[in-house]
Amino acid sequence: MTSSARPLLNRRLAEFGTTIFAEMSALALRTGSINLGQGFPDTDGPEEVREAAVRALRDGRGNQYPPGPGVPELRAAVAAHQERRYGLVHDPDTEVLVTAGATEAIAAALLALVEPGDEVVAFEPYYDSYAACIAMAGGTRVPVTLRPHEGSFRLDLDELRAAVTDRTRLLLINTPHNPTGTVLTRAELTAIAELAVERDLLVVTDEVYEHLVFDEAEHIPLATFPGMRERTVTIGSAGKTFSFTGWKVGWITANGPLVSAVRTAKQYLTYVSAGPFQYAVAEALQLPDSYFDGFRTDLRRKRDLLGDGLRAAGFEVYQPQGTYFITTDITPFGEKDAYAFCRALPERCGVVAIPNSVFYDDPDAGRSQVRFTFCKKDDVLQEAADRLRRLAS
Ligand code: PMP
Ligand code: GLN
Repeated sequence: MTSSARPLLNRRLAEFGTTIFAEMSALALRTGSINLGQGFPDTDGPEEVREAAVRALRDGRGNQYPPGPGVPELRAAVAAHQERRYGLVHDPDTEVLVTAGATEAIAAALLALVEPGDEVVAFEPYYDSYAACIAMAGGTRVPVTLRPHEGSFRLDLDELRAAVTDRTRLLLINTPHNPTGTVLTRAELTAIAELAVERDLLVVTDEVYEHLVFDEAEHIPLATFPGMRERTVTIGSAGKTFSFTGWKVGWITANGPLVSAVRTAKQYLTYVSAGPFQYAVAEALQLPDSYFDGFRTDLRRKRDLLGDGLRAAGFEVYQPQGTYFITTDITPFGEKDAYAFCRALPERCGVVAIPNSVFYDDPDAGRSQVRFTFCKKDDVLQEAADRLRRLAS
């Protein structure tokens, strides 16, 4: 019998409702608005990669349970990619684990590595699943706020150092960072690595936007810094790199004991997933550099197209150096509440965006920030920018 006095949802999850991405995508659908909320491209990834998935399906590769750690072809391709791009050498058999998107990688890593009561330090605004997964693991999240500084968001290293206590088990890092578009610099990463070594912390680093960096910014994996290889779980995903967010193919790379620990949790979450798609992603990871360069150039142009449109419409725009996203501030419109603004935006001008305020523990820190995605066709971005100009009138 259930007791009516006791809520169904357990205490760990009580603060979590429907994700903001689901809520805002449903709002876009309901109102027929342009959806610049949830980050998914409106153009699928490379034709040859799609064909590779079809071939795998037809050839009966992956239609039954693939091996728990992932198909050997994909593990080899992930290891080769890490070595080719970053000089990080991993044994594909023991140091790579394929997951159901980065989402499962985050969940499995936190469930495996965090004891109830452990503190997990993460940047805020944080990607929403971090808070939920820390909670499910029984950990305590300790946010370090990225703050606007000279037109973009930056990390205060002193605040980060101050956030680490004797109860801290793990740093949960995200670079390039969703939603701010911040790409951590070599100096910042060096300081984070020194802190992790000095305080003997584990590091889980979400690098799903590793290929989406612009201008002078450079993505440098944390695992490449001295003392980090043995304490770092690096997370990647095919969703963002190859524009197949629905395939949900992700992975971790780390040393053997860390992979083994994460695999223990992962095998009881999904066990395995995405059989045929794993073969296709193995091929995608072997695409020539020209694919990655072309993708990046195209996205940078889209960033500028939307950024110009948002500025022209009257938003304060924080320039992202990476990801799919631009964070703005709505204060110039005399507005203060991003959530209310986003709820009303479809009616006001037929566009959907994401209120960053939901990505903060401190409700005041991001109250007036709104995120737009630019991974859409040029004419869609242009139309959205035109519609947003109505805000000024
Ligand atoms: N981490 C970050 C920072 C993200 O923005 C996302 C959304 N793509 C994910 C993880 C989840 O990735 P996936 O779709 O591969 O589960
Ligand atoms: N990563 C995507 C974003 O930030 C959303 C993924 C999701 O809906 N969980 O927009």
